[in-house]
Amino acid sequence: VSSLHSIVPQTKWSALQKEAMSTLTSQFTVSTTKLQQLTEAFVQHMNEGLTAQKGACKDLAMIPTYVTGRPDGHERGSYLALDLGGTNLRVCLITLKGDHALESHQRAFKVSDHLQEAHVSELMDFIAASIKDFITSEHISSKIVEHPSDSETLELGFTFSFPVTQTAIDAGVLLRWTKGFCCPGAVGNDVVQLLQEALNRNGVNVHVAALVNDTVGTLLAHSYTHPNTFVGAIFGTGTNGAYVETTRNIPSISSPAKEMLVNIEWGNFDKDKEFLPLTIHDNKLDKESINPGVHVFEKMISGMYLGEIARNVLLNLIGQRILFGGVSSEILNKHYALETKFMSDIEKDTSSTLTATATILEQELNIRNSTVADREIVKTVCQLVGNRAARLSAMATAAVIRQGLSNGIQEKHRHLLRVGATVVSAVDEKDVINVGIDGSVFEHYPYFEGRMTEGLEELLGPNARHIIKLGIARDGSGVGAALAALIATKNN
Ligand code: BGC
Ligand code: MG
Repeated sequence: VSSLHSIVPQTKWSALQKEAMSTLTSQFTVSTTKLQQLTEAFVQHMNEGLTAQKGACKDLAMIPTYVTGRPDGHERGSYLALDLGGTNLRVCLITLKGDHALESHQRAFKVSDHLQEAHVSELMDFIAASIKDFITSEHISSKIVEHPSDSETLELGFTFSFPVTQTAIDAGVLLRWTKGFCCPGAVGNDVVQLLQEALNRNGVNVHVAALVNDTVGTLLAHSYTHPNTFVGAIFGTGTNGAYVETTRNIPSISSPAKEMLVNIEWGNFDKDKEFLPLTIHDNKLDKESINPGVHVFEKMISGMYLGEIARNVLLNLIGQRILFGGVSSEILNKHYALETKFMSDIEKDTSSTLTATATILEQELNIRNSTVADREIVKTVCQLVGNRAARLSAMATAAVIRQGLSNGIQEKHRHLLRVGATVVSAVDEKDVINVGIDGSVFEHYPYFEGRMTEGLEELLGPNARHIIKLGIARDGSGVGAALAALIATKNN
């Protein structure tokens, strides 16, 4: 029951409510034809991004990562890993044991609202202090059995989940902040250097060996357990994907290596708003965000924003006096008050009078005395917003797979993945295309995966369900950072 049609609310609605809901349904429903059109545009923009001249601002940055190989699960060694990309900073010690096995110790440190806006040197000092704390309290040195080098210096992989133009596996300049961060002093600077300086300044004997985006980390981590993973994707606070490109398709790179991972930065897809089915509610969200005009695609998909889109829709209905008797609450009137997590719980509510929904409205948003019809409206709005997000996520994933069918990496799947292909029943493990995914939306939002799979089938034919394996790569960022550090130090 992954689809939209699992409740039948119409009966209790007034004529005006029915009319408003049918308008919303048509605004938020992305047809198969529209998805196909978006996929075409996405593939075209990927190739434009790959071949763009330096400095040309394409919507898809298509950043070469200087990671030229994928793990096969036999890697061994101990590395520190750092994961920064949202409200938590994670510091990990990862021990890769070969044979697809690993051990991980980790600690999370909260990145306060203040730090997300503070000068970047303050943020980096906080990171350095957290690493120091972790190393001392966990007796890290004594846990490292197979030390990668003779010196006492620990090698660290840094997963930094923002758009960074890389110039080497251990160097890259921040293009722009996303997801609520806006620390001055970072954009245009090398984040590895900023971190290394902070480590030195704070007397922490750690060497930053590699820098990766979380999508790249996720791809590497998934490849450790599922060799030949082709895509790494994040559907969490933000959204993005990385994949394997043939080096000859990347004109800016001259490398003897055959393939290189590319960070797409797909959150910025269609920045000119030519194709995306944006509604007034999306436009309002974008205008009121801290980065208007940037990452409009991400703003339709990711966990930071879904609740806010739904909130905008609800306020609009309240304004028309067809929801909650036209009365809002002080809380609901506040930006970002409706969390995506509430939407998850509302979508999960299958009781006939939507009692869990009533509780959320009352306790979290101070909306009392909602009627059943009101709650059915609220739930339907969540379904519309959630289903659209999953279908657009399928679209981006399908586009990347289409690129793989033509760039030589996944060529043998060509005949299997097209609309109208002969249906295969059993698929050999080696014929699977692995997609490693991390992020709270994919992991926790109800029906997200099922809705994505439906979209993939519409775009890549009936075999998509069997050939494309969407797999959770939990903690991919940490393990991936360690693998990147290993790749970087082995290459030296
Ligand atoms: C960032 C990406 C990141 C994604 C998922 C986006 O906002 O631009 O670099 O991969 O969030 O964390
Ligand atoms: Mg993350």
